[in-house]
Amino acid sequence: MLILFDIDQTMITTSGAGRAAMELAGRELFGDRFSAQPIDFAGSIDPIVVARLFAHAGVSHTADNVAAFRRRYAARLDERLADPSTGRTVLPGVLDLLARLRADADATLGVLSGNYGETGRAKLAACGIDPDWFRIAVWGDDAVGGFHGPGSPPSRDELPRVGLARYRQLHGRDIEAKRTIVIGDTPHDVRCALANGCRSLAVSTGAFDAAALAAAGAHRALPNLSNVDDVLSWMFNAR
Ligand SMILES: [Mg+2]
Repeated sequence: MLILFDIDQTMITTSGAGRAAMELAGRELFGDRFSAQPIDFAGSIDPIVVARLFAHAGVSHTADNVAAFRRRYAARLDERLADPSTGRTVLPGVLDLLARLRADADATLGVLSGNYGETGRAKLAACGIDPDWFRIAVWGDDAVGGFHGPGSPPSRDELPRVGLARYRQLHGRDIEAKRTIVIGDTPHDVRCALANGCRSLAVSTGAFDAAALAAAGAHRALPNLSNVDDVLSWMFNAR
């Protein structure tokens, strides 16, 4: 079994620190026209978020601009996460569920997140979750485009298959997609699971209620992960 967890609003919340740090970084580099307010972050991936932020602010989407922004964003996020006034929460059941999965020899724990790797790891660490608990990590910039046809933009839908490939690298054998569970809080998380034949476990700890997540096709939609016995039973009864 491979279990791939989303980060924001699925395992943790950081009080919008990511959005605020992106806006601050953008304003420092490109001026006050840079605003994160019109951009929908939920379930997106950082390369797409950054492309939309740049387009909205009229900033050229060059490799140099993206690299400079990414460095400044990481620095500003680190500052925000180090500030004790930044609220940070591990969502209900998550620490217990992670501990029990880490202790299960039949489970491989992974993270599948739209964050850039360095900032995703920083968010987890700030909330007391060691990023190295996850033996497989798939990040937003693992999406390179092309999933929905030649020339299609980077998409979260690409990420589960990267997770499956990394499972093969780690264990030296394949895992069936149907034995892979993608846990997330948005219809984007659900769709990326379904697009790859994986199982979708959705939690309404973000902006979407259980009905919206079920309507997106989640195999299971829960208010949160607090009923750990029930979650584990659902995960492992289908293996
Ligand atoms: Mg999320």
